[in-house]
Amino acid sequence: MIGASTAGAVVVSGIGVVIDGRPLLADVDLTVRAGEVLALVGPNGAGKSTLLRAIAGDLAHSGTIAIDGVRTGGEAPLATARRRAVLEQDTAVAFGFRVGEVVRMGRAPWRGTRRAVDDDTVVARVLDQVELADRIDQAFPSLSGGESARASFARVLAQSTPVLLLDEPTAALDLRHQEAVLAVARAHARAGGAVVVVLHDLSLAGAYADRVAMLASGRIVADGTPTDVLTADRIGAVYRHPVTVVPDPNTGTPVVVPSRTVQEASS
Ligand code: ADP
Ligand code: MG
Repeated sequence: MIGASTAGAVVVSGIGVVIDGRPLLADVDLTVRAGEVLALVGPNGAGKSTLLRAIAGDLAHSGTIAIDGVRTGGEAPLATARRRAVLEQDTAVAFGFRVGEVVRMGRAPWRGTRRAVDDDTVVARVLDQVELADRIDQAFPSLSGGESARASFARVLAQSTPVLLLDEPTAALDLRHQEAVLAVARAHARAGGAVVVVLHDLSLAGAYADRVAMLASGRIVADGTPTDVLTADRIGAVYRHPVTVVPDPNTGTPVVVPSRTVQEASS
């Protein structure tokens, strides 16, 4: 069973990050339980990637962060790599590697264990999940931007960890693949995992997240259900742009529509 913690798969307690005298995060508390997808939203520069890096254990901070009850930094990196997988916002282009090889790199934490026998099956399954099964032998740098993002997501899935930390996984993707990535995230949570996903598309957050946490200037300004957090007043104030929020006609989840001034076409 994965993510069987009662305390929460990810528990962030009072963390702060200061770089060059500038506070990038302050007083951040956040709990993500097994079975949950948490969307982390907020304007450019709010501190979303910084928070994800801190949760991943890749950034010095004050306060404490635990994944499945184990403090990050309190165990060998290999053990951490078996608990959480990270999709960074800017993934390096892997020159000289084929798509299948890049995805297989995600299996590295399991090398030499009994789970390594699953490598071929896992690589095939995750490539299928991102609809790149037919690209397994293509040179990674020759993929389109969106394909490259999906292959990187597949590498993260191949790591087979209970916790997924995804920084803007949908930024380069078309409509179909945005929905597909979040459907995979939901399935991961349904299977007992936990997902923290940074999203700019607030309607996607509204549709797929169990909870939304909104960051602004390094602080959590709201944390709750999509309906509670994604209000027109709050979004308008935090993003400094007026919006209308309407219920999705099929699901009732909040759809966020930015206010626009459309020029009349001249006749
Ligand atoms: P976002 O919410 O857009 O992901 P980030 O977490 O990447 O924001 O960055 C938050 C703020 O911290 C930004 O203003 C960014 O310029 C700044 N920042 C991030 N990393 C560093 C760093 N290593 N040194 C200085 N400033 C940084
Ligand atoms: Mg970012």
